[in-house]
Amino acid sequence: MSTAINALINFIEKSPTAFHAVASCAEILEEKGYVRLFEGDEWKLEAGKGYYLTRNQSSVIAFRIPEKKPHNFLITASHTDSPMFKVKNEALSPAFEQYARLNVEPYGGTIFSTWLDRPLSLAGRVIVSQGDKIEARLIDFERDLLVIPNVAIHMKRDINSGCAYNPAIDLLPLLSQDAKTDFAEFLANEARCKKEELLGYDLYVYNRTSATRIGMNGEFFSAPRIDNLMCAFGTLQGFINSKNDHSVNLFYSADNEETGSTTKQGAGSVFLSDVIDRICESFGIDRKRALASSMLVSADNAHAKHPNHPELGDAKNAPHLNGGVVIKNNAAQKYTTDGISASIFGKICAYADVPTQQYANRSDMPGGSTLGSIATTLTPMMSIDIGMAQLAMHSAYETAGADDIDHLIHAITAFYNTELTVLGDGQYCLQFSKGKGARKNV
Ligand code: ZN
Repeated sequence: MSTAINALINFIEKSPTAFHAVASCAEILEEKGYVRLFEGDEWKLEAGKGYYLTRNQSSVIAFRIPEKKPHNFLITASHTDSPMFKVKNEALSPAFEQYARLNVEPYGGTIFSTWLDRPLSLAGRVIVSQGDKIEARLIDFERDLLVIPNVAIHMKRDINSGCAYNPAIDLLPLLSQDAKTDFAEFLANEARCKKEELLGYDLYVYNRTSATRIGMNGEFFSAPRIDNLMCAFGTLQGFINSKNDHSVNLFYSADNEETGSTTKQGAGSVFLSDVIDRICESFGIDRKRALASSMLVSADNAHAKHPNHPELGDAKNAPHLNGGVVIKNNAAQKYTTDGISASIFGKICAYADVPTQQYANRSDMPGGSTLGSIATTLTPMMSIDIGMAQLAMHSAYETAGADDIDHLIHAITAFYNTELTVLGDGQYCLQFSKGKGARKNV
């Protein structure tokens, strides 16, 4: 039975938005002694120490410098954001005298129907004026606050024949019985500031349904934001568990994957590249040579074979829940896996005694994209796309295998513990130190 699942559920529940996911990562890193850096400061990095930094409070990078001069980077990349709804600046949309609705727009590609008729809440950050200073504060209402009511079946008789929801009309959450309610006052109260001190906000609607174990033996779990907090948490645990005397181990979890990654803090930005540059400068490492022998594991969940619709997956490359780490493949390289990276990662998983399974889209169905192919255009290195099998991706409430979080942590721990040397183009040497990569519970 899984041991890490409860810690994952706790992480998900503490992380309703990308800002909170980064804060949750920071808390874990601080506990483990990682030193916080700020991009605007001069960095004085020391061998043998671990560091972390954030950008826009919504992307995070942590890294550990070995005692000896490192020759490469071992990197995992995941994402902190999930599809939800963002509150617009003019936040209220009155409907008659009886109702105040929140004026929201979709963030990312969510399954609209899954957001209806369930308790929702608000979280994000508020920007507060403090004299001549401005401070961004994380906020989470942490209570059942909103609902998006369906139309009754008696008023829409074809509702079970497939229903199109218009986000501008059908998906505005109900907030209050008072159409003239003062949202800014309400928000300022929650943020413990005066209304006139409230300068702005980035607020999101999130699903309040608790994460829970499912199945006769608790073999599955359902939760909001499994894509991609499962991989963010699993790669962070692997990162923290590991030790490498030859490589800079680096953990990256980026915002804005769900909207294409092309933001200052997303995987399409130079955030990762900037940090690699500064580490190389600090220790006299030749960046080009280091990248030529480095490896990136892009970790983002994969579609499991659906119990009611197995025909939607490839006949053979269709993973199942609790079946181990999924290697994601795509001929067009939307997933960066190739024969070499799959072989290297396969050997690492075999060493760590972690099962692997293969994923490919049905050939007549284009799949989604993820971080690896975007991140490696700016930091070119060998790369693989992996994930854990899950159902109902981008639903407000998703389902995955409870044992798979352990598989992910063990595989990533072993990856970070590997001594990877590139001998030439297509020639590699992998060494696993004794005792490392061994199973370690969190
Ligand atoms: Zn994802």
